[in-house]
Amino acid sequence: MASPENQTCYECGSRLKGRVDKKFCSDQCRVTFNNKIKREENRVMNHINNILRKNRNILLKLNPQGKSRISRERMNEAGFNFTYFTSVYTTKEGAKYYYCYDQGYLPIEKDQCLLVVRKNFTI
Ligand SMILES: [Zn+2]
Repeated sequence: MASPENQTCYECGSRLKGRVDKKFCSDQCRVTFNNKIKREENRVMNHINNILRKNRNILLKLNPQGKSRISRERMNEAGFNFTYFTSVYTTKEGAKYYYCYDQGYLPIEKDQCLLVVRKNFTI
C-alpha cells in the first residue's frame, strides 16, 4: 500500500501530506483538474452533437417536401454519418426508422432510403 509520502497531487504533482486518500494539494488543484475533465467531456459531446446537427441539416436539405426517396450514396456524398442518430422507431412490421431529432429515414430496398419528418413531436 502506498504511504502518504509517496502520494502526489493529481494536478501539479507536488507531494501530498496527510490523509492517504488525498488526491490534491489544494482546492485550486482539485478545481483545475475537475475542469479539465469537464472540458474533455464537453469536447466529446460537442463532437457528437455537431454530427447529429449536420445529419439533421442534410436530411432537411434532401427532403424539402417532407417525404422523398433517395440513395444512400447521395446521403453519403452529402456527408451524412449513418453511425449517429437520436432515436429509432420500429413499426409493427419490424421496419426501422432512424431519426436525427425530427428528421428521419427508413432504409428500403436497393440502397435507397425513404426520408420522412416526424411531426407532433412529444418532448
Ligand atoms: Zn497540486
